[in-house]
Amino acid sequence: MEYRKLGKTGIRVSKISYGASSLGGVFHPINKKEGIHTVHAAIDHGINLIDCSPYYGDLVAEKTLGLALKDIPRDKYFLSTKVGRYWKGPAKIWDYGAKKIVNSVEQSLHNMHVDYVDFIHCHDIEFADKEQIIYESLPALHQLKESGKVRYVGLTGLPLDNFIYIIDRVQPGIVEVILSFCHYSLNDDSLMDLINYMKINKVGIINASPLSMGLLTRRGVPDWHPAGSDIVNTCKKAADYCEKQGEKIEKLAIQFATQHPDIPTTLVGTANPETIVQNIKWAEEPMNKILLNEVLNILKPIHRKTWKNS
Ligand code: NAD
Repeated sequence: MEYRKLGKTGIRVSKISYGASSLGGVFHPINKKEGIHTVHAAIDHGINLIDCSPYYGDLVAEKTLGLALKDIPRDKYFLSTKVGRYWKGPAKIWDYGAKKIVNSVEQSLHNMHVDYVDFIHCHDIEFADKEQIIYESLPALHQLKESGKVRYVGLTGLPLDNFIYIIDRVQPGIVEVILSFCHYSLNDDSLMDLINYMKINKVGIINASPLSMGLLTRRGVPDWHPAGSDIVNTCKKAADYCEKQGEKIEKLAIQFATQHPDIPTTLVGTANPETIVQNIKWAEEPMNKILLNEVLNILKPIHRKTWKNS
């Protein structure tokens, strides 16, 4: 496994990392025991970063991850979670206020059976009042940093310009990492436009969703996926093409996302131990460049086409 520097944190992250949203059953129902084995398999095969959120399965992902982490020494992994986005029964709710943040982090530590998390992110800042993020949420997270409950403070979200808006308006070091998703994969590589900006501002980049949350899989997307039908259909065309060539779109997609040296790490999600091990192995193998060009060509009509987060 290759480990790459993450901004100015001093941490070296595995180039492929584990996203635990699948443990909350967000894509399809899962077997909890298998989910726990998936976390163990990820760490046994060199992954050292795990990302979660109270939002994933309404605390279920954090609680399942906590069961897995109970058996693992704390120095074997870096742990990331989020504040601001939650469920209340069937309704999505957002709360980026300082009081909620403090309670939310306490609850996450309790759920995951840890004393601290390495990364804490404001979850999906497109839903937040940006001034609140700047003047209330980020200061609250930095207070938690002083108390030792969190180590590095970050932001997540889909529209990339929101990261710039906030980083331009806070002191250096306030935003230490960003987590961007669905913007460095076969169908959308727009995260490349931010590499220099983040380097200049000494912000580490965590990339997520190399399979574009299911678009680049043979199984296809879950019902809630916000992509338009043109994106869904074109990605399906690319997956079918790979299948015809005796290849798997998932393999190409994971290799594409993890092999760029300027992308320190890419979070991939699954609740299946064999799948995470397969993904790790694929990340080590060279890409089929001919297939890559053919697939990029199929995806050209929707290249960098995105959607509204929901
Ligand atoms: P992803 O692109 O990693 O795709 C996950 C889907 O692909 C799941 O259905 C999984 O079962 C399937 N899959 C994985 N490997 C496969 C393989 N080899 N063959 C076939 N199917 C395979 O999307 P994701 O899980 O949403 O993203 C990864 C992680 O990134 C999340 O778990 C989360 O931790 C993080 N993330 C964060 C945000 C945010 O902060 N707003 C948003 C998206 C993702």
